[in-house]
Amino acid sequence: MSAREGTLADLLRRLIRTSGPISVAQYMAHANAHYYATRDPLGRAGDFITAPEISQLFGEMLGGWVADLVLRTAGATAIPRFAYVELGPGRGTLARDALRVIRTAHLAPEVHFIEGSPQLRKLQTQAVPDAIFHDSTATLPDNLPLLIIANEFFDALAVRQLVRTQDGWRERMVALEEERFIPVEGEQPMDAALASVQTDAPVGTIIETVPAAAAIMQDVAMAIARQGGAMLTVDYGYVQTRIGSTLQAVRNHRMVDPFFDPGNADLTAHVDFASLANVAQDAGCVLYGTVQQGVFLNRLGIKERAHALAAANPGQAKSVFSGLERLVDARDRQGMGRLFKVLGFGSPQWPPGAGFSPEENAGGTFA
Ligand code: SAH
Repeated sequence: MSAREGTLADLLRRLIRTSGPISVAQYMAHANAHYYATRDPLGRAGDFITAPEISQLFGEMLGGWVADLVLRTAGATAIPRFAYVELGPGRGTLARDALRVIRTAHLAPEVHFIEGSPQLRKLQTQAVPDAIFHDSTATLPDNLPLLIIANEFFDALAVRQLVRTQDGWRERMVALEEERFIPVEGEQPMDAALASVQTDAPVGTIIETVPAAAAIMQDVAMAIARQGGAMLTVDYGYVQTRIGSTLQAVRNHRMVDPFFDPGNADLTAHVDFASLANVAQDAGCVLYGTVQQGVFLNRLGIKERAHALAAANPGQAKSVFSGLERLVDARDRQGMGRLFKVLGFGSPQWPPGAGFSPEENAGGTFA
């Protein structure tokens, strides 16, 4: 942004001064659009690190999952045609690692990326030169099975917050206190926006919904039900719908105040897996389940792959095993293997994807 236009914070201040408080969802949408458009946020020099940036094992396992499912569906007949689709591919690392495995299995999918950031599109083209870019899911191929992967994508979408006040439900808004952004309760009654109004919820209760996530999920799940294919959504979040604000900001690998300096920290909200799974099911897909990342990767054989990789590159063995450990770590609640969940679903015409067990299909019982 040029000096003349000012920073995003200045822009939002002017907007709020002119037209009043904006919703938390609008605030988050503006902040993240600016944030992702102006930098590469990933890695040690950036603000946060993701599973594919920790170890190539992550993308390889997901690529193996895709290849296994496509080959089992096709049987011994023809060479299957399909599209490998990623939502928010970051640096393109996951896709590069996954496609290496997929191509080793003699499969040659088209590659389609949904990416909003021009800056990240450049990095993704370097990693995967044949990728075709889309602004939204609306333009994805309509004549091929879609194998879709979304890692840490849904958590970046704008969250809408409703807060219980003395006078019923209100939207949570962002106002100004002098120069500072602060969350406030909106003035419009919002009771009608809740499916079942929880009149007995204590004052201060916050309910979150992510309309953009539901819309994207419905679109891709309908396409999968129609055209064939499957999807894996990996994110941190909860399996049973919860109550409370999960909006958070990360900068330089540290938690910061989400209302300080919009556009210069990564804003996220926890992903509500139960809601996303419902949307996919209503769209006609079969749920495979929601499982902890560590359990999923172990079932796919990540340890065996790590040993093979270390044996082939003895000089790298230490970093291979430390990467493995971080991806599957489930010793405490903060371990990636436990904090992150994997939601899988697919076309009712296809066999189920690997790594899920039937008892998880109800939505899971773990926190
Ligand atoms: N999947 C990658 C990157 C996660 S960061 C990884 O695991 O490393 C979130 C990604 O989603 C970025 O690529 C970001 O630019 C993209 N993104 C965020 N909001 C988006 C939106 N509304 N539309 C399209 N892409 C979006």
